[in-house]
Amino acid sequence: MNYWAETAVIGGMAVRVKKMTHPTTTKSSMFDMVGRDKARPTNLSKKTRMIVTVSAFLLYLLAFPLVVRELGPAGSALVIIPVSAAARLWGLRVGVLAGVVSAPLNILLFAAIGDPITFRGGISGAVTVVILGAVVGWLSELLERNYAQAQELVAARDQALEANRLKSVMLSRVSHELRTPLGAILGYAELLAEGTYGPVNELQCAKLGEIMDSAYELEVLVSDLLDMGRIESGRLQLFPKPFALSVLLEGVIGQTAVIAQEKNLPITLTVQPDMPNTLVGDPVRIAQILTNLVTNAIKYTDEGQIAITISPTSDKRWVMNVTDTGIGIAPEAQPYVFEPFRQVHVDDSYARSGIGLGLSIVHELTTLMNGSITISSRVGAGSSFAVTLPLDSQQEEI
Ligand code: ADP
Repeated sequence: MNYWAETAVIGGMAVRVKKMTHPTTTKSSMFDMVGRDKARPTNLSKKTRMIVTVSAFLLYLLAFPLVVRELGPAGSALVIIPVSAAARLWGLRVGVLAGVVSAPLNILLFAAIGDPITFRGGISGAVTVVILGAVVGWLSELLERNYAQAQELVAARDQALEANRLKSVMLSRVSHELRTPLGAILGYAELLAEGTYGPVNELQCAKLGEIMDSAYELEVLVSDLLDMGRIESGRLQLFPKPFALSVLLEGVIGQTAVIAQEKNLPITLTVQPDMPNTLVGDPVRIAQILTNLVTNAIKYTDEGQIAITISPTSDKRWVMNVTDTGIGIAPEAQPYVFEPFRQVHVDDSYARSGIGLGLSIVHELTTLMNGSITISSRVGAGSSFAVTLPLDSQQEEI
């Protein structure tokens, strides 16, 4: 900041020096420029003027730092304290201060020489210094402030990104480590239930079933966490290939029908006749999208039904529509349901199952497939999610 103010002082001086080198017939001050001064010949020789100008310039160079810096704490405090303060207009004040400090020096110097034109030049130089100092000081303060703010923002963003990266790495590692013991629990429970380690009675078999259900639920959670970690680190890959839509739909319905039956919720499936059966895409990930939507529909619906509709659109795309008659989502919550870990119904029992990752994974997968997802919902009436994907169909059946 000091340097800018000094630059302004020297800049002001330089303006004046330039004018004083041609003072005989040209305008010699700011007042001249607005026509208030008449050009007058000077009574000093060119050489003397040059000496005076150069000495004044050098004096400026010496005087300013002396006044503002070298005069000890009192002198430097005049500039340094205001500069270090965080007030918005301190730059302006410092600029004015620089001018005010240097103006009397300027005037005194040329008054001592006794040349009226140079004296006037001294005043205009001082005024220039005040104005330039003020403007440059203010601008530099503003620039410095913006630069400092930008630096702070960049540092904060980098910190947040790094923290987020570490969180993703940690999530991936933990989820990965959880998978192995979970697999063992599921595998051994299954073997036990099958009687591999000796006969089990009915009650024991039912309890083993409960262990397997819980372990399966945990496995889904862990898979979601792993997927999220992969998506955030850009490691999630799609494996497109031709697949039969009917097989995919059968699989999804087979997987979700059990929990729908537990709640007495019928699932209806409608595939439009003009929908091709052989498509090209990643069947595992498309099934994951549909399973997530249907599971949510069942989870957030107490009575009524779940409807799945599959149809082509006119612009070479196809839509998977999942509609329920459940509790619905309030309009203000609809924009954020696709964000990770965001849950709407946190105050009721629905929030207990799930961690708020399902819809964000659906959203990310859909985006990866160059598709889109929309939601339409009314509280108390139900929700409808529509996933639109590019229609890449194969002619021959598989
Ligand atoms: P969760 O694991 O909590 O189900 P999701 O990411 O799948 O997480 O969904 C985010 C939130 O959106 C849910 O917590 C729920 O509040 C709301 N939600 C999702 N699907 C439905 C639906 N079909 N009906 C009502 N609310 C839903």
